[in-house]
Amino acid sequence: MEGNSISKNLNLNVRGLQPSATLAINEQSNALIAEGKQVYKLGLGQSPFPVPDRVAQALADNSHQKDYLPVKGLWELREAVAGHNLRYEEAPSRPQDVLIGPGSKELIFILQLVYYGDLIIPTPGWVSYSPQARIVGRHVHRVRTKAINQWKLMPEQLELLCRADPDHPRVVILNYPSNPTGCTYSEADLEHLAAVARKYKIVLISDEIYGLLHHEGKHKSIANFYPEGTIISSGLSKWCGAGGWRLGTFSFPENLHWLLDAMAIVASETYTATSAPIQYAAVSAFQGGEDIDHYLVQSRKVLKMLASFLTRRLQAMHLHVIPPDGAFYLYPDFNFYRDALAQRGIRTSVELCQAILRDTGIAMLPGFDFGQLPDELLVRMAYVDFEGADALQAIESFPWVEGNEEAFAKQHAPKLVSAMEVLQQWLNSIL
Ligand code: PMP
Ligand code: GLU
Repeated sequence: MEGNSISKNLNLNVRGLQPSATLAINEQSNALIAEGKQVYKLGLGQSPFPVPDRVAQALADNSHQKDYLPVKGLWELREAVAGHNLRYEEAPSRPQDVLIGPGSKELIFILQLVYYGDLIIPTPGWVSYSPQARIVGRHVHRVRTKAINQWKLMPEQLELLCRADPDHPRVVILNYPSNPTGCTYSEADLEHLAAVARKYKIVLISDEIYGLLHHEGKHKSIANFYPEGTIISSGLSKWCGAGGWRLGTFSFPENLHWLLDAMAIVASETYTATSAPIQYAAVSAFQGGEDIDHYLVQSRKVLKMLASFLTRRLQAMHLHVIPPDGAFYLYPDFNFYRDALAQRGIRTSVELCQAILRDTGIAMLPGFDFGQLPDELLVRMAYVDFEGADALQAIESFPWVEGNEEAFAKQHAPKLVSAMEVLQQWLNSIL
């Protein structure tokens, strides 16, 4: 040991944490590609589509915006987000209800920091919720959902958890359409969950970052049924193809403005305000228009077409998978191959993903990263490895006829087709 080296006194809440799985798989995939390997990038969940032209132009036009902006966000942008909420029939819809941040990920983190309550995560759930709770020292309760229920949180599960200690403060994160499953809730489901949330005064973060990517354009927010306790979390990353721009939004009901204010204080002492050019450009995205509506309709068609093709291919390989309602994820179960995999020493979803990446070049994330038990052989496939601009153009004239999905995938998402072929070969080889 060197005498003058600084001892590694990491905060206990951070000690032992690994880099976030989504970002780590992306870096690993890029490193393999740099070594000349063939990689199918189904790891990171990043929109394959370009930012709509008018929004990209707005960013170029605002590159001169250099001033620090108000902590809660540019007023015009808060107005645009409120208007957007109103158009999609989601309360809250006044500019003062909206908080802008550098990604909804950061806003979800700050909410957990300022509000003292246990975090309830319907599981499987997105990779970052639990590490964030750990960093700020919150207790996490995972509520395990089932494939037979389309991976949805059942109201009885929430009731059972809350009943044991009714007055305990709790935050529930409900994410729909879901990352990693693509499944969503019906209006009746949301109404039932809202009744339990109301009974136990739950702070509900409604993570609707994939809301506009419901494949039928039929997303509905739980804020319609539990307005007083719901914070809608969204942003530009998914529906606007702008993950790297880092812009997220929280929309609060009037009676939770004290949380908005507390979050803004933390923001003012940490990131100050969200990047100015990005906020100015985001105004045009949230104001919407015919071009953006068209972009959304076409994006959904592409995602639905490819989901339908992939679901059928995975099912033909004896992988159980629920056809998704939205987003760009599939969540197949490899349980059919459990014995064959065990004979090769593969017993966990982590080992499964490592073996598939090593042998085939397909990068995916293990269910374990989404809170699944280690030996559950579930895997998240982000079906985004295709040229989004080309697919958007092609879908304009591509007839939607039953059985046409394969032709579309072959022409406009050839890497996804190849990934299915190599996966099939790999599974055949282990039997
Ligand atoms: N929630 C879910 C379910 C996600 O998949 C992501 C990843 N983009 C986020 C929140 C965070 O998104 P962002 O920070 O880019 O707004
Ligand atoms: N949300 C994306 C995913 O689940 C990636 C971005 C991130 O994790 O911050 O893959």
